Amino acid sequence: MNKQLILVVEDDTAVRNLIITTLETQEYRYLTAENGTEAVMAAISHNPDIVLLDLGLPDMDGIDIIKKIRSWSGMPIIVISARSEDTDKIDALDAGADDYLTKPFSVEELLARIRVTNRRLAGMQGTAPSQQVVFENGDLKIDYSAGCAYLSGEELHLTPIEYKLLCLLAKNVGKVLTHTYITQNIWGSAWENDVASLRVFMATLRKKIEKDPDSPQYIQTHIGVGYRMLKL
Ligand code: CA
Repeated sequence: MNKQLILVVEDDTAVRNLIITTLETQEYRYLTAENGTEAVMAAISHNPDIVLLDLGLPDMDGIDIIKKIRSWSGMPIIVISARSEDTDKIDALDAGADDYLTKPFSVEELLARIRVTNRRLAGMQGTAPSQQVVFENGDLKIDYSAGCAYLSGEELHLTPIEYKLLCLLAKNVGKVLTHTYITQNIWGSAWENDVASLRVFMATLRKKIEKDPDSPQYIQTHIGVGYRMLKL
């Protein structure tokens, strides 16, 4: 039985009811908020396990809600936005959101996102990913202190950029990282938004870590947004 508490922030009654009904079928506990003020209050007073946040709210910009929550908490935030709000989605991820769902979404998609977030939360119990000495995910292993990565026990021959890229994705496992976030972290601001270069390095990295680079197991592509390492 799922006992997690999910905060559902959505002003559209039909969408909110769909989400609530879906959560009930899986026995998640939930609370609802119809606007930004209620959302921030609920996040403070109930400390939910996951927040599902609609970006288009009547009283407050969704991005500001993320920034407010991030000022005191790392609770996972899954953003819900309309297809026309692609830039908002990217801004939301850069502000600290973990994942996104695009409207209209299916019940299966919603549950899949919650499961991905749960796997990440489960992986975070104990040592924070940023403080781990060794990272393990499926057949992939990174020994941060030695600066080496392994696949099924075999050392991977990665270039310094590929290694940095792999570590960045691993330290944020389960989370969608935007192109801007990745390029800034790997190359600094001068390379900001050089998505073409990032794609090249990602392709060479995938050839080394994915059994089938065309249907990757570890690194997921989010077209127009960025990449995510999945927790296997
Ligand atoms: Ca809305």
